[in-house]
Amino acid sequence: MHELSLCEGILQILEEQSQTQGFIRVHRVCLEIGALASVEPEALRFHFDVVTQGTLAEGSHLEIVTVPAQAWCLPCGEKVSIGQYFDACPQCGSRQLQVIEGEELRIQQLEVE
Ligand SMILES: [Zn+2]
Repeated sequence: MHELSLCEGILQILEEQSQTQGFIRVHRVCLEIGALASVEPEALRFHFDVVTQGTLAEGSHLEIVTVPAQAWCLPCGEKVSIGQYFDACPQCGSRQLQVIEGEELRIQQLEVE
């Protein structure tokens, strides 16, 4: 239940922010999810609705933005975008890639009142 604990974490952040920033309702949450975070958007939405029931974020809209992963290609000597682990370099086809970004999950934007 990876997605469930993620949603609980998000709710906790929302509640903390509501206190520091002084809002009482959350209308929209825009989440940035790295392509490698192995999060199922539909499962995330489902758990988000359940977890936020009776909270400041009840009925809020969850928007999910998938961010492509970035890896360092050794032969190319530069950063390239990949869709998943063990993808080949889109430029040279090499598999000598070091993942440097793509596992993050962060709140990009909030619409509150
Ligand atoms: Zn390459």
